Formats: sequence, structure tokens, C-alpha cells
Amino acid sequence: MTTGGSSLRNSNYSCQHSKPFVEAFVGGTCGCKKQLQIRTSWTKKNPGRKLVGCPNYNKPNACKAFDWIEPEVCDKEMEIGVTLLTRLEEKDDKIKLVEAINQELKSNNEKLHHVTYNLSRTNNALLHKMQEMETQLKTLQNGQNVCNAISRMVIIMWILTIVVLICNMTRK
Ligand SMILES: [Zn+2]
Repeated sequence: MTTGGSSLRNSNYSCQHSKPFVEAFVGGTCGCKKQLQIRTSWTKKNPGRKLVGCPNYNKPNACKAFDWIEPEVCDKEMEIGVTLLTRLEEKDDKIKLVEAINQELKSNNEKLHHVTYNLSRTNNALLHKMQEMETQLKTLQNGQNVCNAISRMVIIMWILTIVVLICNMTRK
């Protein structure tokens, strides 16, 4: 037993890898007076192997209460465990890659959103200008119409004057 916890040392168990062995730890405390925790190792050397120890194991100032519950895995089990762990790691890498791509897409999407917003604003400004120009054009067209009407009236008056003059001349 590699432990500094007195409760673990005093635990009433024989070193057998059996159910009573695990039960001997239930309710037991480690050197830091914390309840012992049963965990599963996921290291490449001991994949899936159950252990019991201090809940703060590996943290600063924690006690070193630790022991394996299950026997060391045989070569075949080790091979399977390592293969599974490697596959898990590959999956993790893929997930990280997908997450990175997703993050980049999100960032691009935000940029596009910004560009779209700016384009929309420019479009609105252009529409407003176009409406102003249409109004000005209408005003100019109205002015043109007035000019045309005056020209026509002047021509008619000239014709009338000439007609009156001709009438006067023929009367004499
Ligand atoms: Zn502890």
C-alpha cells in the first residue's frame, strides 16, 4: 500500500482483488480526512484499471493515499485498452479540429454579418439620394412645362397680332 493516510493503513482488508477489498474502502478516509474515492485510471500504462485514493491526489498538499483495486491488466487487455485509448485520442483530436473550424466559421459569419449590415446602410443611403434626385427631376420637368406653355402663348399672341394687323390693312 503506497499511502500516507492513517485510515487507509488501518483499514481492515486483506490484499485481495475482490469485492470485499473494494468495500473495505467505502466510508474510509484518507490522510486529509477526506472520503476515499474509487476512480478509473485512463493512462496508457493502466487503461480502465480501478484504483482507490485521496480525492485530491496529485494536488499540492494532498496526502498520497493511493492503491490499485484491480490487478494489473494482461498483455491482451493492455493492447485493447491502448487501442481504445488511441482511438479516443484520435476522436478528441478530430473534435478539436471540428471545433476550431466551427469557431472560424462563426468568426467569418460575424464578419459577413458586419459587411452585410454596412452594405444595407449604403444601399439605404443610395435609395434616399435616388428619391431626392427624382423629386428634383420632377421639379425641373414642371419648370420645363411652364416654359413650354409660355412659349406657346407668346406664339399664339404673335399670330393674333399679325391677324389683327392684316385685318386692319384689308379694311383700309
Ligand atoms: Zn488525502
